[in-house]
Amino acid sequence: MFRPMTEVAQAGNRQGAGGLLQPDARPDFGHVSAWVFDLDNTLYRADNGIFAQIEARMTEFVMRFLDMPRDAAWTRQKDLYRRYGTTLNGLMQEHGCDAEAYLEYVHDIDLSQLSPDSGLAAALTALPGRRFVFTNGCSAHAGRILSRLGLERLFDDVWDIRSLDFRPKPDAAGYAAVVAAGGIDARAAAMFDDIPRNLVPARALGMTTVWLKNDSLWSSEGPHMDVASGDIDHQTDNLTHFLHNIRTAP
Ligand SMILES: [Mg+2]
Repeated sequence: MFRPMTEVAQAGNRQGAGGLLQPDARPDFGHVSAWVFDLDNTLYRADNGIFAQIEARMTEFVMRFLDMPRDAAWTRQKDLYRRYGTTLNGLMQEHGCDAEAYLEYVHDIDLSQLSPDSGLAAALTALPGRRFVFTNGCSAHAGRILSRLGLERLFDDVWDIRSLDFRPKPDAAGYAAVVAAGGIDARAAAMFDDIPRNLVPARALGMTTVWLKNDSLWSSEGPHMDVASGDIDHQTDNLTHFLHNIRTAP
């Protein structure tokens, strides 16, 4: 199991023994000018309703597309997700599924439970440089989510599954492609994701990595990938709090 360098809960304690100020212990992001965020379960909590809706739609899609009963479709969907990283990738590889029809169907969900997150908006606005969303989902879904959260104007671009040529995170090829397309120096970039394996290729490119730690089944159901101690630089369970407590370039 990995052991991140810092946890924000431990940072910010600048008062040492005897009242002497310690050197600034906040995580140092002074070198970062490109901020890359996963969407679901990173910019908002998806595991308290949104994921359940998407999962139900995925099962329904598999029921119709492969003409199988619900229980079998659910099992098949989990199997495809585990082996291919996304259900869509599995359906495309094994069954020639049309990506656009799938994406439209599974993201047709009720987002009324989401509301503007002014605290996160302020924290993101304060970050120096460019901001990106990097998701295995589709850009239309991302746009609807960002609108509900009041974050839609804060990102320079959304890299979605089409940007990745339908090779989902953590496929390293997609990372190199979007970094090149964005004109980004990976060593001056930070990536935030709730799934540890998704941070491994980012770290390999030289990005600073932050794990949004959580106990979501979604994280553990996917394909296995070894995550080493050096792959995760920081971890937090509160993105807004973390962003307010890092050191950034002036
Ligand atoms: Mg996520």
